[in-house]
Amino acid sequence: MKVIDHINRAKSPLFSIEILPPLKGKGIQSIFDAIDPLLEFKPSFIDVTYHREEYVYKKREGAFLEKVSIRKRPGTVGICAAIINKYKIDVVPHIICGGFSREETENALIDLQFLGIDNVLALRGDAIKSEGAFVPEPHGHPYAIDLVRQIVRMNKGNYLETDLVDVAPTHFSIGVAGYPEKHFEAPNLTYDLRHLKAKVDAGAEYIVTQMFFDTAKFIEFVNKCREMEINVPIIPGLKILTTRKQCSLLPKLFNIDVPQDLLEEIDKCKTDAAVKEAGVEWCIKQSKELLKFGSPCLHFYTMGQSEATRKVASSVF
Ligand code: FAD
Repeated sequence: MKVIDHINRAKSPLFSIEILPPLKGKGIQSIFDAIDPLLEFKPSFIDVTYHREEYVYKKREGAFLEKVSIRKRPGTVGICAAIINKYKIDVVPHIICGGFSREETENALIDLQFLGIDNVLALRGDAIKSEGAFVPEPHGHPYAIDLVRQIVRMNKGNYLETDLVDVAPTHFSIGVAGYPEKHFEAPNLTYDLRHLKAKVDAGAEYIVTQMFFDTAKFIEFVNKCREMEINVPIIPGLKILTTRKQCSLLPKLFNIDVPQDLLEEIDKCKTDAAVKEAGVEWCIKQSKELLKFGSPCLHFYTMGQSEATRKVASSVF
């Protein structure tokens, strides 16, 4: 079932999760181990992230350097298929512009359609480390909106090859990303929201947000979206802070703030276990605030922390 239908038919707020494919060489069991403890909360859908290739230079004999392409976390589509097969839970594969030409995107979407997957989260992706700024593939998409438009065209039966006959339209429900604390490249929030509105006007049916630790910022973001007539459901993305190091790491990785109150709670902790407990308590508080605000779904970035997610979910669902 489509995410938007889950939301529209729900009688109470939904629980959903995002998982990352395991590092290359690790088995699928780690995925099942991450999902199993959360089954009791009946996740309505499970997002599976997509990780593009990176380029590294490896030293070879004779002081030569070889440029090697590596993908640390392949397997998004295979994991989606495994989840459907094992749990019969809806999946949302993430699909990105980076590394894909339009033709490769079309073929990837055809694979998803054949697997019976009718949800995608359409994203641009980040710049790879060897490039300072995002560079689309030749004949690829520069922004997520272009990807949204391609999927919408396929949903109408318009493929890139125009001489196909008797084509089957795809049926994807499209989600897109939103940033309560603004996307780091956008000069200001209004600019970013105008582009978010354009993605929705192009056909995105819901928004999933970047993680945030200050609920007031999310509420302000939703209110601004509504003022700008972005009227689709906005799903808050929640990450449980589980280590002291994340206080400095997460702002760097995701361009978000850690509120002073949370930092002070973490500072008081004497052990790693106490830090995790403080992170769980903070997320329970946030979850309750979000449910009170009327969020249709709480979406947890599990990041290998199913036990912490289970503690939060059991306090709020
Ligand atoms: P866009 O919507 O294209 O926006 C990118 C920037 O360009 C913004 O600053 C925006 O304001 C601006 N912009 C947009 N359209 C235009 C335009 N037409 N003209 C000028 N400026 C424009 N990354 C992955 O690689 N894999 C994942 O699985 C993944 N999952 C994610 C899930 C969520 C919920 C979120 C929030 C992010 C995820 N990301 C993932 C990260 C995401 O790819 C990056 O944040 C990326 O830098 C931006 O993606 P976007 O889809 O928001 O881009």
